[in-house]
Amino acid sequence: MDFDFSPEEQKFAEEVEAWLVENHDPEVMDHHRENFTQLADTPKRRAFMKKLAAKKWLGMSWPKEYGGQEIEGVYEFILNEALSRHAAPQIGKGVGIIGKTLIRHGNEKLKKEFLPKILNAEIEFAVGYSEPQAGSDAANMQLKAEKVEGGWLLNGQKMWTTSAHFADWYWVGARTDPDKPKHDGLSLFLIPMAHPGLEIQSLPTIGKDTTNQVFFKDVFVPDDYLVGERGKGFQMISEALDLERFTMFTLSPIANRSEALVEWVKKARRDGKPLKDDPNVRRTIAHIVTDTAVAKGLSTRFVCAARSGGKPPTIESSQYKLFTTTLSQRVCKDALDIQGHEGTIMEGQDEAPIRGRFEGAYRATMNETVGGGSSEIQKNIIARRHLGLPKNF
Ligand SMILES: Cc1cc2nc3c(=O)[nH]c(=O)nc-3n(C[C@H](O)[C@H](O)[C@H](O)COP(=O)(O)OP(=O)(O)OC[C@H]3O[C@@H](n4cnc5c(N)ncnc54)[C@H](O)[C@@H]3O)c2cc1C
Repeated sequence: MDFDFSPEEQKFAEEVEAWLVENHDPEVMDHHRENFTQLADTPKRRAFMKKLAAKKWLGMSWPKEYGGQEIEGVYEFILNEALSRHAAPQIGKGVGIIGKTLIRHGNEKLKKEFLPKILNAEIEFAVGYSEPQAGSDAANMQLKAEKVEGGWLLNGQKMWTTSAHFADWYWVGARTDPDKPKHDGLSLFLIPMAHPGLEIQSLPTIGKDTTNQVFFKDVFVPDDYLVGERGKGFQMISEALDLERFTMFTLSPIANRSEALVEWVKKARRDGKPLKDDPNVRRTIAHIVTDTAVAKGLSTRFVCAARSGGKPPTIESSQYKLFTTTLSQRVCKDALDIQGHEGTIMEGQDEAPIRGRFEGAYRATMNETVGGGSSEIQKNIIARRHLGLPKNF
């Protein structure tokens, strides 16, 4: 198995790197926003995504008949890592989750309406799976979708919908068949975010970003906006989550932070002595750099899957998500420990080491081990599907 990039892939990586340097804009590329918060949520960031679209870098792996180039997913991996290395918004929900699911399962009307807009970066989505009683147990969604003349009437509540406050469309799971077993009674819908029956309430998080709760009151959705087959929502969501675990949690921000910490340690002094001479500090950063290399190794499994055209494998996605998000947190925590009392000065202050990069990042990484499926859930997946251990719930 060849883990290195081919000459063509390497050439593309260099082209992307040069383009990002040339198009550097501090309002778009912000190293104080961590992985999870790299969203196209401002006019400048949306304009940046349009530039990526003009380069034909969105949907590269999609079939040609839907405007893609049918090239291997490894090119999307290279692009996303480069974007996150430069702290720019990443190609995410539209191309990866919604676009790919519509191509596989959507009706012709939805494909015609949404796929060109996704490729042209004209549309942003929010994803609504979680509810007050459905997080880890996503199949327990209770948002009610009742069949009425010409469509569906949705009533209930969603929780933790990131992007709802600026997105154009809502990708929503709802219970269409309450009498069926819970995994078989869910369906997916597309709803304009500006629908008058939706009420969005902001939930600012510890991690500098805002998520939302969304209330549904008699939200009418026409039949055509049911995605795929009725009752197959949970299967479609599970497929998309494997992809999310690789694409939403890129490695580059961790590598950037490890490098920033090592550089800082090389120059910093405590009580008049160079920190780099402290054996504890040396051990800690050696451990971080080693684990960052291990994370890179895990991510190459995605490269291989993407190269073979296959879907990201479930167990490997869980192992990658568990390891990288835990590491991401540990890098920040260890950095704060090394920085001592100065590490507690808040982000943005001149007195803080590296202007508080690790204070801010530590808070942001708290969300990473929860969103996209918590660490405990990843461990359950590995225990059950990889090791064949019994189900614990
Ligand atoms: C910042 C942020 C953004 C998010 N964005 C979105 C979004 O855009 N769209 C969306 O749909 N959701 C989103 N989520 C929701 C996220 O997917 C859920 O929070 C997550 O799946 C956990 O669900 P929960 O919060 O209901 O916790 P629960 O499922 O209630 O879990 C509580 C605790 O119990 C543990 N636990 C639960 N079940 C088990 C088990 N069987 N075995 C062992 N431990 C268990 C969990 O690991 C956790 O520690 C977001 C969450 C956050 C924090």
